[in-house]
Amino acid sequence: MSVMRGATVLLVLSMLTRVCFSATSKTASFGTVKNIRSITKMSKFDLPDRLKGNDKSVWVEYIQLALQYKPLNLGQGFPDYYAPENVTNALAAVAKNDNPLLQQYTRGFGHPRLVNVIAKFYSKLINRDLDPNKEVLVTSGAYEALYATLQGHTNPGDEWIIIEPFFDCYEPMVQTAGGIPRYIALKPKSTSGTVTSGDWVFDRKEMESLFNEKTKGIILNTPHNPIGKVFTLDELQFIANLAKKWNVLVVSDEVYEHIVYEPYKHIRIATLPDMYERTITIGSAGKTFSVTGWKIGWAYGPANLLRNLQVIHQNSVYTCSTPIQEAIAIGFELEMERLQQPECYFRSLAMELLPKRDYMAKFLREVGMIPTIPEGGYFMLANWSALENKVRLNEESDENKDYRFTKWMTKNVGLQGIPPTAFYGPEHKTLAEDYVRYCFIKKDENLKAAADLLKKWASK
Ligand code: PMP
Ligand code: GLN
Repeated sequence: MSVMRGATVLLVLSMLTRVCFSATSKTASFGTVKNIRSITKMSKFDLPDRLKGNDKSVWVEYIQLALQYKPLNLGQGFPDYYAPENVTNALAAVAKNDNPLLQQYTRGFGHPRLVNVIAKFYSKLINRDLDPNKEVLVTSGAYEALYATLQGHTNPGDEWIIIEPFFDCYEPMVQTAGGIPRYIALKPKSTSGTVTSGDWVFDRKEMESLFNEKTKGIILNTPHNPIGKVFTLDELQFIANLAKKWNVLVVSDEVYEHIVYEPYKHIRIATLPDMYERTITIGSAGKTFSVTGWKIGWAYGPANLLRNLQVIHQNSVYTCSTPIQEAIAIGFELEMERLQQPECYFRSLAMELLPKRDYMAKFLREVGMIPTIPEGGYFMLANWSALENKVRLNEESDENKDYRFTKWMTKNVGLQGIPPTAFYGPEHKTLAEDYVRYCFIKKDENLKAAADLLKKWASK
């Protein structure tokens, strides 16, 4: 009898364990001892403090939204048409090349053919001889160049000056490196009539007041995302003088360097007197050759500054894709040969985009928005406040109005834009709530479809 009781207890226990185990592995929702232990253990894997508050990304959220609602997507910045054939053909040829090593690891700090041509190219542009092995680092997109710069050059408590609106990753990259972002906003001098990106300026006194003993550097982005501002020589000199006065770094994100509309000119802050020594300049093959999915970028600057980036790179990514670097090197070599010719992609891309920019500005105006005409890049900011009565903002629950506007438009009008408050620090978001960012490196037929959607909605 007691043997029977013992066997029954064992059976019940083993069944319980099995039930508990399967519940734990599936949902961890039963309050058994085992589950409580496993939940407690899981909480150890909560975000570390330095990542807290940085878990939200406009890209993750809006790409998911686009997948769900399938709007016409003028959100994330990438062309919806073919990349230039010289680079895509080069990549196809590299895949079939009879050198088997082109499919294997290459030099960690950059494939030799690519660093050589990058050094040659920028040596010409900045009028200084760059050492391809010490003054150029190839990274996994401009993202990694920014990341390696900020991780590699930040001590806890260092302050980085960030100009708002800013490409959104600057803020978490500074914070997760232990640094403190100090923000200064570009503000439009006028908000009616024709507004251009040149109307968006920073207050010089305010800029001056941000520099102090704790400042490690300033992050600059020209041509600018999302405004399209091409910083003027006078503005760059002002920033450069402060950087020299306070002996700080300048990180110059120039991924849109070749997308500048006449008569504006891109100026590299590294070319101003005594600035190369303190500047890390960042570029992107994704933007330069319209292949955003290839995720190759670079940083160039003095060897002593690039060393810190190399340390981060060699211990994280280590080396980037060999065939893609080879193909980009081939692309660069070709463009270098025809730099002065109109077919050079670094010239023709802006020419190709100009009518798209003007077309978008026109249809945004026609529906009652006020666009900021960009001097560079392929984004356009537009103020939509005159159309607020056509949007049921109360159907969305986000804190900032531009998030509600863009989500509502995605779901109800079928057009996606990006909410620009994602590009502001916590204190200045209200400055951008009446705006939306649209991307215009899209097929003409898609821009036309966007115009039609907006016109139909606005005329209701
Ligand atoms: N900086 C800016 C201003 C950008 O818009 C982007 C997006 N291309 C990046 C950096 C990142 O570039 P990549 O895609 O090469 O990582
Ligand atoms: N730079 C692009 C943009 O601003 C893409 C950003 C991203 O995908 N993270 O749209």
